[in-house]
Amino acid sequence: MFVLITNYVRNSGWPNSQCMPMKCTIFVQLWLVQLFSDHVTSHIVTAEVRTCISVSVFCVCFCVCVTLFVWLWLLLWVVFTMANQLLVGPMPNPALFRDWSFNRFSSLVLVDRDTSIQWCQDVGLLPSRKQCPNCRLDMPICNTRAQGAGRVTCVGKAFRCQKAVYVGRARPHDVEISLARGTWFDKSKLPMELVLSLTYMMAHGESYEHIIREARTLDVDDPQHLSSETVADWYMYFREAVLESILDRFRTRGPIGGPGATVEIDEAKIGHRKYNRGRVVDGHWILGMIDRQTGEVRVEILPNNDRSAQAMLPLIQQHVLPGTTIMTDEWRAYHGLPAAGFGHLTVNHSLHFVDPQTGAHTQNIESTWRHMKRKICRGGVRNADQQLDLHLAEFLWRRELDRSGASPFIDLIGLIAQLYSGN
Ligand SMILES: [Zn+2]
Repeated sequence: MFVLITNYVRNSGWPNSQCMPMKCTIFVQLWLVQLFSDHVTSHIVTAEVRTCISVSVFCVCFCVCVTLFVWLWLLLWVVFTMANQLLVGPMPNPALFRDWSFNRFSSLVLVDRDTSIQWCQDVGLLPSRKQCPNCRLDMPICNTRAQGAGRVTCVGKAFRCQKAVYVGRARPHDVEISLARGTWFDKSKLPMELVLSLTYMMAHGESYEHIIREARTLDVDDPQHLSSETVADWYMYFREAVLESILDRFRTRGPIGGPGATVEIDEAKIGHRKYNRGRVVDGHWILGMIDRQTGEVRVEILPNNDRSAQAMLPLIQQHVLPGTTIMTDEWRAYHGLPAAGFGHLTVNHSLHFVDPQTGAHTQNIESTWRHMKRKICRGGVRNADQQLDLHLAEFLWRRELDRSGASPFIDLIGLIAQLYSGN
């Protein structure tokens, strides 16, 4: 073979040949030959050829090194990605939030502004796209012009459309619409990471003190510092959203009960307690209805604390289907129920808890009152009188979540996204 190659090299006119592919082929062949025997090649390989061979060897080694480096980089990338998936998990899947601690939420969602915005768009808290009102084209997202000069804007991004020429019939324009407009973050002076943290903690019913303490540990730009007044304001927005959602659910589901079903009804006084000789002297009368089969509760505040039949019967008719068997105590306002198309059984509480003849009792609704009073009257609620409807709504919302096992945060995010879609 060596002789063949030697002859081939000589016949090809090496090194005077100008044909580059030919030269390259010969380089490789010579290099191979040299690998096997220096002795064979020594008499045909000139100094120039030796230099060429060295350059070729260097090039081949360089290519091999580059290839190895690329492969190593790819391998490391795959390993790091897999490790990241294993350690941190995939990007926030709302369904998994029930098991998420606040630290996990903040380490995944509150990493930086772009991640927070992306997550909010995924769950519907911020709009993903908006059409320009002038030219009807999709508007790109950019930093808002209001940002800077020490001003804290909640989201800091806006949809912006800049057209220097006519687009169809639309004149040249420069339109900016805040990303936060019409959303949960609208008009907030807090940075959005703080609003998200607040939302998470309110959904889990954390106290003002806990929220303020946790907010201080967050690495967010908050020149105003979260005060308990601000937390109180946000809790009110949260309860307003919950109230809207509860009323909407009531409307969608329609009245409770029905023929064959049993509903317990009772009134209770709830609100601010003034301990005047051990008596509740201030508060509101509320009317509660519970469907024994489904466990669903409806609550209404009685206008002007009026416990008469005229005040209560329309509310009962609004929430309970005709034909339902209603169980109450012996308060006289309930005496008109049979005439209104309901079955009616009573229990005399001064004698027994359960009526020995009919088996009628109102223990489910009374147990609900106990839970409600524990939450609303002793839960550090200072102004339950003014915001009783909001507190009742929060109680009913949490009660439903406890029964269904759903995540409070995901439920809250869902109802906020529905109320404040920003579109
Ligand atoms: Zn436009």
